[in-house]
Amino acid sequence: DREAYLHSERLHLISELSASVAHEIRNPLTVTNGFLQLLNESKEIPQKEKGFIEYSLLELKRAEQIVSDFLAFSRPQSENMVYSDFKEEAEYTKNILLPYAHMHQVTIQLSFQNNLRKEYDRNQMQQCLINLCKNGIEAMKETGGILIIDVSEQKNQILITIKDTGIGMTDEEISRLGKPYYSTKNHGTGLGMLMVYSTIHKIKGNIKVESEKRKGTTFTITIPV
Ligand code: ADP
Ligand code: MG
Repeated sequence: DREAYLHSERLHLISELSASVAHEIRNPLTVTNGFLQLLNESKEIPQKEKGFIEYSLLELKRAEQIVSDFLAFSRPQSENMVYSDFKEEAEYTKNILLPYAHMHQVTIQLSFQNNLRKEYDRNQMQQCLINLCKNGIEAMKETGGILIIDVSEQKNQILITIKDTGIGMTDEEISRLGKPYYSTKNHGTGLGMLMVYSTIHKIKGNIKVESEKRKGTTFTITIPV
């Protein structure tokens, strides 16, 4: 049907995009990485500041990973496949976003009660959760609030809920989620949700969005085991 057609069109587009984006971004990343490594070897920089450099290097690596993930959209990535539950992914997401949440007066609550295991691409799954949670935090940047991440199990499915108390969306805005470059933010890429939908689509999962203006948004992801 039409929905399925749009889906595969998007997946096609993302792999087209990915090749050029990956190419354009890799070079500046490599150069930055090189200079940071040099700084890191300097004897004039105190230990505490070196910590900042280490973080920057890690995040740079992450950026590189994202680029690789975009590139990898059309290919299977056997080296990233794990057979696991989502506990580590949820924890990783929380930890990586804590400073960002703190900056926006957002508290992150994580609950986990699930032992169902599933084979999935770890990097893509982490990126997918980060994209969703980052949007949640950004939806609360004016007000602060609570971001709830919950992983549980329901009828032999893994259920991931990501809930914010932020600005919310109209039905019209919800319907535009996942369209390439759709963003209402000043520095948004409009690619985050596209990546989310593609990743969940690939593992045969489903995403439900419930939202109310000025009340908040809940994303419910179900993944069959
Ligand atoms: P970006 O975050 O770069 O704008 P995304 O694809 O991640 O791109 O999101 C697209 C748009 O969807 C956002 O600009 C925002 O308008 C809307 N959106 C996504 N998640 C939320 C949310 N949790 N609350 C409110 N709006 C959201
Ligand atoms: Mg986003």
